Amino acid sequence: MSDAAVLSVRNVSKSFGSRRALDGVSVDVAKGEMIALIGPSGSGKSTLLRSISGLQTIDPGEGRIDAFGGSVQAAGKLSDKVREARKRIGFIFQQFNLVGRLPLFTNVALGSLGRISPLRGTLGLWPSETKQAVMQALARVGIAEYAGQRAGTLSGGQQQRAAIARALVQRAKIILADEPVASLDPVSARRVMETLHALNAEDGLTVVVTLHQVDYALRYCRRVIALKEGRIVYDGPPEGLDRTRLIDIYGPEFEDVF
Ligand code: ADP
Ligand code: MG
Repeated sequence: MSDAAVLSVRNVSKSFGSRRALDGVSVDVAKGEMIALIGPSGSGKSTLLRSISGLQTIDPGEGRIDAFGGSVQAAGKLSDKVREARKRIGFIFQQFNLVGRLPLFTNVALGSLGRISPLRGTLGLWPSETKQAVMQALARVGIAEYAGQRAGTLSGGQQQRAAIARALVQRAKIILADEPVASLDPVSARRVMETLHALNAEDGLTVVVTLHQVDYALRYCRRVIALKEGRIVYDGPPEGLDRTRLIDIYGPEFEDVF
């Protein structure tokens, strides 16, 4: 793993039965990069992100994944180092994963605990440093005014920004976002992409985001990685993704992904 890399994926494979979702994937991610992960449905994008986050094991063998200089893939009881590395990786899901009946504030504060504590949430017995961190994170993503509102009453885009705020409270240094805008209308989607972009450009967070809309990848990311059948078939600047390459990646119907 090179010094500049915050994340290193080395020759990683992952099989589900006889199906190889990832087939010898290697990627180095430098601190402060914003990378789009694209490719057709079933190409392995989610599997790669889940493996990086440690949510999923990889096939045993020579493959390995390191973040901040330590393996995130460890069997059995996690060492402090692995736990620390994983805590610095925030994961954003397509479906936000907020608890709709709880206030926005509580949902975001849960990032500091890692588990739900409804009693604390409803009684508002949060330590002042948590309150401050949560309000700061909510302000950073532009939804501080809704702190006391139930999460379920917010729009999809606001909920997704709340999920990002939760990662900030958790003090994530790497954000992995799996199709964060796939369920959103175009205006909300743009705001979520702009939020991720600002956290990358202004706060130095490293962002890896899977997108099925290629135009967002081209607009917001200086590096695009394309997967096809579990293998990396492109890794470079968006300018290199010409029509021929896109047809190669997506097939002749590639215009649908714009
Ligand atoms: P993408 O996110 O690019 O659409 P995925 O990573 O979800 O692709 O899936 C890659 C391949 O792995 C697909 O063939 C999918 O069916 C398979 N796969 C993913 N997760 C599982 C799972 N939990 N069990 C079985 N097969 C899976
Ligand atoms: Mg997916």
